[in-house]
Amino acid sequence: MFKTIRARLTLWYVTVFGGLLIAFSLYAYSLLSSTLRAQFDSSLLRAAQATATYFHEIAEERDVKASAEDTARELVLTGAAVAIYSGHQCLGSSDVKVTSLAIQSGLLDSVNNSHGAAFATVGESRLVALSEPDGTKEYVVILAQPLILLNQQLRNVFAILILSILTALCLAAISGYLLARRSLAPVVALSKQAEQISARNLDLRLETPHPDDELGLLANVLNGLLSRLDESFQIMRRFIADASHELRTPLSIGRAEIDVALSRERSLDEYAGSLQTVDKQLKRIVNIVNDMLALARADSGERYLTIEELYLDDVVNECCSSVDRLASLKGVNLDCEISEDLPFHGDEELLKRLVLNLLHNAVTYTPTGGSIRVMLSQEGDNACLTVSDTGIGIPPENVGRVFDRFYRVNKARSRSDGGSGLGLSIAKLAVEAHEGTVNLESGLGRGTKFTVLLPLFHKSNGRGEQNNIYHASPQQHG
Ligand code: ADP
Repeated sequence: MFKTIRARLTLWYVTVFGGLLIAFSLYAYSLLSSTLRAQFDSSLLRAAQATATYFHEIAEERDVKASAEDTARELVLTGAAVAIYSGHQCLGSSDVKVTSLAIQSGLLDSVNNSHGAAFATVGESRLVALSEPDGTKEYVVILAQPLILLNQQLRNVFAILILSILTALCLAAISGYLLARRSLAPVVALSKQAEQISARNLDLRLETPHPDDELGLLANVLNGLLSRLDESFQIMRRFIADASHELRTPLSIGRAEIDVALSRERSLDEYAGSLQTVDKQLKRIVNIVNDMLALARADSGERYLTIEELYLDDVVNECCSSVDRLASLKGVNLDCEISEDLPFHGDEELLKRLVLNLLHNAVTYTPTGGSIRVMLSQEGDNACLTVSDTGIGIPPENVGRVFDRFYRVNKARSRSDGGSGLGLSIAKLAVEAHEGTVNLESGLGRGTKFTVLLPLFHKSNGRGEQNNIYHASPQQHG
C-alpha cells in the first residue's frame, strides 16, 4: 500500500503533523478546562462569601433559623442552591437536594474540622462549603451550582477540536501528497530519461535543469557513470573490431594457402611448404589470442602472478642472448650493460615477455647499421631497466597511444613485421603487475628509449609463495 516514496512521505508528514496537532490540542483543551473550572470555583466562592455576609447581617437582629431560611429563599432567585448549617444541624436550605448533596460530598466534616472553604463535585453539581466563625458560634454556608452549562461548553469545545484535527489531517494528507508528488517529479522525470538509455545510445545524457540541487548532483553523477560506461563500451567495441581485423589476416593467408595447395596434385615439398605457411599463421593467431586472453583476464581482475625469487640480471641477460642473433642478422648492434646480482621477487615469464617485447620492437624499428642499448641497474629501491635504440622513432603525436591495444604507428609496416599491436600493452601490463612504471622518450628519426622502474619491495612481492595476481602465457611476442 505504501510502496511509493510519495505515499510514505505523505504518511510520515500526516503522522508527525497529526501527532503535534493532537498534543497541542490536548494541551490547549486541558488549559481551557482548568481555567474555566477555576473561574467557576472562584465565582462560586464569591457567591458563598456574599451569602455568608448577608446571613450574618440579618442573623444579628433576628432568629438564626429564620435568618438562614430567609437567606436560602433569597438565593434561590440567583439559580444557586444554598444550605446553612450550624455544626451538622441544617438551619435552612433552598431545597432538600442541596442538603443531600452536602451530606454526600462530606464537605460538612472537612470544613467543621478546619475553617475556610472547601470544594467538591457530586454528579453534575459543584459545591462549595464556607465556614466562618461568628463570635462564639460557627456556621457553614454550602452553595451548590449545576455544572451542566460548563460541561456542555467544554464538550462543544472538545467536539470542535476533534473536527478541526480531522479536517487539518485530511488537508495535510492532500497537501503532503501533492507536495511529495511535486518534489519527486524530477526523480520520475530522471528515471523516465534513464529508461530510454541502453547500450545502443550510451551517448545520451540526463537533463539537469537545476545542476546545483541534490537531484542535479545525482544526475551529474549518473551522467559521469554513463560517460565512463560509454567509454568502456567504445573501447570494447574497438577492441573487438581490432581483434577481428587482426585475426582475419592470418586466417585469410592460411585459407588461401590451403586453397592453392588443394587446387591440384602437388609434390611432397610443395605440401610441406604450404603446411609451414599455415603453421606460421596459426602461431601468429595463437600469439594474438594468448595476448588477448591475458589482457582480458587482467581487465576482469582475474590475475595470477606466479611470484618467485629470481635474479633480474639473469632474466634480462637471457632475453638479450635470445634477441642477439636476430639483431646481428639484421645488422643491428646490441649492447647490454647489466649490473650483476639484482635479486627480485616477480613472475619470471611475465618479466621475460616485458623485456623481449621491448627488445623485439627495438630490433624491428631500428634499421641496419643502428644500435640498441640495454641497461639494468639498481636505483634506490627500484630496479631500472632502459632499452634505447637509434631507430625510426615515434612521432610525438603517437607517443601517448603506443601502449593502447592494437595500436600501431604504421599499420602496414608493423603487420608485415609480424606485430599485432599488443606487445606494448602486454609490457605495460607486466610492469603494472609488479607495481612499476614505464616511461617512453622518442622523436621521429631520433630513436626511442623505454625506461622501466620496478620497485624491489612491491606488495605482490611474496617470499617465493604462489601469489595469484596474473598469469601470462609463456610465448614471445614481436
Ligand atoms: P607491434 O606488435 O606492432 O610492435 P607494439 O604494441 O609492440 O605493437 O608497439 C606499438 C607501436 O609502437 C608499434 O606499431 C610501433 O609503431 C611503435 N613502437 C614500439 N616500439 C618502438 C620502437 N622501439 N621504435 C619505434 N616505434 C616503436
